[in-house]
Amino acid sequence: MILVTGGAGFIGANFVLDWLLADGEPVVNLDKLTYAGNLGNLTALRGDARHIFVRGDIGDRGLVTSLLIQHRPRAIVNFAAESHVDRSIHGPAAFVETNVVGTFALIDAVRAWWLTQPPSDRLSFRFLHVSTDEVYGSLGPHDRAFTETTPYAPNSPYSASKAASDHFVRAYHHTYGLPVLTTNCSNNYGPRQFPEKLIPLMLLNALDGRRLPVYGDGGNVRDWLHVEDHCAGILLVLAKGRLGEKYNIGGGNERTNLEIVDRICDAIEALRPAQQNPSLTGGGYRDFEEGLASTANWYVNNRTWCQRVQAGYNRERLGKLEVRS
Ligand code: NAD
Repeated sequence: MILVTGGAGFIGANFVLDWLLADGEPVVNLDKLTYAGNLGNLTALRGDARHIFVRGDIGDRGLVTSLLIQHRPRAIVNFAAESHVDRSIHGPAAFVETNVVGTFALIDAVRAWWLTQPPSDRLSFRFLHVSTDEVYGSLGPHDRAFTETTPYAPNSPYSASKAASDHFVRAYHHTYGLPVLTTNCSNNYGPRQFPEKLIPLMLLNALDGRRLPVYGDGGNVRDWLHVEDHCAGILLVLAKGRLGEKYNIGGGNERTNLEIVDRICDAIEALRPAQQNPSLTGGGYRDFEEGLASTANWYVNNRTWCQRVQAGYNRERLGKLEVRS
């Protein structure tokens, strides 16, 4: 079996669903269920004995060690993180706690357990750390895409905390020989993304006729990748990656934020009159417009999921306001 952390979040949940659909190998899913974790993402697995959900913190060494001893995973895929750049600007401490201290506690507990395993299991074991291309900084309109040798230049507390975790993972390979792999992916979009991130926020605002707030002049450039393509990339690295290496995963699809918002408006306009058209879902997503159309379709058809998540988000904000007053 494999151990997935953060498997109730956006990418982790898509990964667990894809994994169990394609492979069938059981998954232990360790997730703290922060505001971003949502068991509603995994309802398709209710009653499926291949999925064992454990609510807990990657920083809890005792819990992690007992899960390792009990389940003896052949691989760990670490998605768990605080992941929202804007939140990291307003409250960086949680990012250091989970992304730096938590990842360190996890990998150190894994190392201690891994050392007790038989040599053949030690050899075949993998720890795959899921990271972001934001560790490389930002791209200007005419800059070339990041490569694996681009120097780290994190610009936000989020990317700084992910950069620190990448360094610990790398160091655990070089110092202790732990069989690690790291992936650095560009911006993801697709179903089940928390609606404070750019694409679902704009999709839902457009659907409800609300304003579409764009930072600055909207000229910020990011590469975008459908979450299913990211998960396919992770599977490939897990199966074939060279130990200790890092792998950038991207869509070759760089867009300004303004362009993204324009395309979202196109997708919604195309979709509204054709809501019943099932041909908008499924297949690969190499083409961005196709991926965006299917994402818009998912949000249009899963309004209950969105309303529940948005209600939780509003409760959280109200809670904070009450504490402050
Ligand atoms: P997310 O915020 O949607 O999900 C994170 C999950 O981790 C949640 O389920 C949350 O409950 C869980 N979690 C948080 N702290 C935890 C802790 N201490 N212990 C256990 N679980 C904890 O994030 P996401 O967008 O799915 O991103 C997943 C990973 O991929 C992150 O490591 C992120 O840095 C990376 N990544 C994300 C993107 C993107 O565009 N979303 C791009 C590249 C890389």
